[in-house]
Amino acid sequence: MAVEKNQNKCLCCGKKFSMFESGVHLIADRPELICEKCRSAIISKRKDISSASSIEDLDCQLSAIRANYSSSGAFDLIMAYYEPYANEVKKTILQNEQQKKLDEEQKQQKIRERQEKARQKEEAFREKQQKLFLKRQAISNIVVTTADIKEDYDIIGPVYVQVSNKGFLSSTFSNLISEYEEELRIIKNAGQISSSRPDWGFLYGEWSVGQNDFEKAFYVSTQELKKRAFYLGADAIVGMRQDIDLDTSGFQYFYLQMYGTAVRLKKHTQSLIK
Ligand SMILES: [Zn+2]
Repeated sequence: MAVEKNQNKCLCCGKKFSMFESGVHLIADRPELICEKCRSAIISKRKDISSASSIEDLDCQLSAIRANYSSSGAFDLIMAYYEPYANEVKKTILQNEQQKKLDEEQKQQKIRERQEKARQKEEAFREKQQKLFLKRQAISNIVVTTADIKEDYDIIGPVYVQVSNKGFLSSTFSNLISEYEEELRIIKNAGQISSSRPDWGFLYGEWSVGQNDFEKAFYVSTQELKKRAFYLGADAIVGMRQDIDLDTSGFQYFYLQMYGTAVRLKKHTQSLIK
């Protein structure tokens, strides 16, 4: 760069240096001299660049500086002075933007994962409900009679259940009541009651909820008896009987035993063989 030797005026504002004031360097390893006033003005503008919050903001600040010094003889020097600061700010802004983008992507990924988990959970819940419904249907379809049935059947064997509101059996009993009450609630909410035929399990069950422990025990025992028959592959229970033993020490406690014979109808056995 051609700079006049023995420079005697400020390259920026053109003011002549007096005998008490000599020029100063804006950039240490460059020869150009400017006055102290210009130097501090240029340095103070540096914060406008350093505080830029976006690339657009930075471009705007640089444009303002360029316009301000466009006619100055020190234009190149000044722009060279600002350049490393502008580059530094630009780098930081880009890094921040990159980080922000990355954070946003991670956030979105986490949201997607959460949604997927919720969907799977919901699906598993629906599947479980469906299985429960089918099982309930099958158990509900088991016929219980205190007499015999006219169709031919094969005897599978006896089924038995006991419930009591006393001692170690009482927790089982109250668990069963809550379980069936919950099941009845689900059935009712899901509208899974057949309108074409009476559903003893539901009708009697719903009615018994508001009744005393004997009625509840009768309902729960019948359902439990049907459940046992279902697991044995039976279609029906014939000759069902029940016994209630009252606790002599107060009558509020009882033991209910229920039993019957699980059978499989011949027509079903034959269809299984076919
Ligand atoms: Zn000057």
